[in-house]
Amino acid sequence: MKTIGLLGGMSWESTVTYYQIINETVKRELGGLHSAKILLYSVDFAEIEECQAKGDWERSGEILAKAAENLEKAGADFIVICTNTMHKVAPQIQENIHIPILHIAEVTADELKSREIERTALLGTKYTMTQDFYKAKLEEAGIQVLVPDEADRETVNNIIYGELCLGVIREESRKAYRKIIGKLAEKGAQAVILGCTEIGLLVKQEDTALPVFDTTLIHGERAARLAMEE
Ligand code: GLU
Repeated sequence: MKTIGLLGGMSWESTVTYYQIINETVKRELGGLHSAKILLYSVDFAEIEECQAKGDWERSGEILAKAAENLEKAGADFIVICTNTMHKVAPQIQENIHIPILHIAEVTADELKSREIERTALLGTKYTMTQDFYKAKLEEAGIQVLVPDEADRETVNNIIYGELCLGVIREESRKAYRKIIGKLAEKGAQAVILGCTEIGLLVKQEDTALPVFDTTLIHGERAARLAMEE
């Protein structure tokens, strides 16, 4: 079995889910006492968030590239960046290491394609919903992406940083997300991508009639499968 290098802590609330889903997948496949070989480098998210707010992606990329280098030195066979947003600096991280990165948007696009989804809603941080590093991966795969309007993007983003990354789950916020997903469904979305690794802590399949694609679950399960491949 390959060793998975998790670049986590962004936020640690969702890194917990990665650890769980990867081990559950290995257990389901291999049975018995089998568990995943994992190295975890968990960063201080406050430092990363400060870089995001300042627009200093270069600096956040340096921090994460250094962490990924350490995972490689420690024996990781591939890297899993446990956040959608920080895939913005995935190319910068990749330049500094010799092992591959399992890209969250690529595996999510694969999953949508296998379910024949052509038009999807995307919820995530304001960076993920508006910038190209993420949406382009879906569009390249032939999937049309719908994002909330500006006011709704603000709501989605504020709930992520002000609540979910701090482990705060509020019914009111769940209702707000449901409403926003409903509006995107009316605009023609056939599915919704939970494109931020904490949203799955708040929104579940039972909250919407649209098929839910939770990037944390997809990414974690794919990582486990890749680790188990011959
Ligand atoms: N975990 C979140 C994501 O998947 C947001 C935190 C971050 O900015 O990395 O995008």
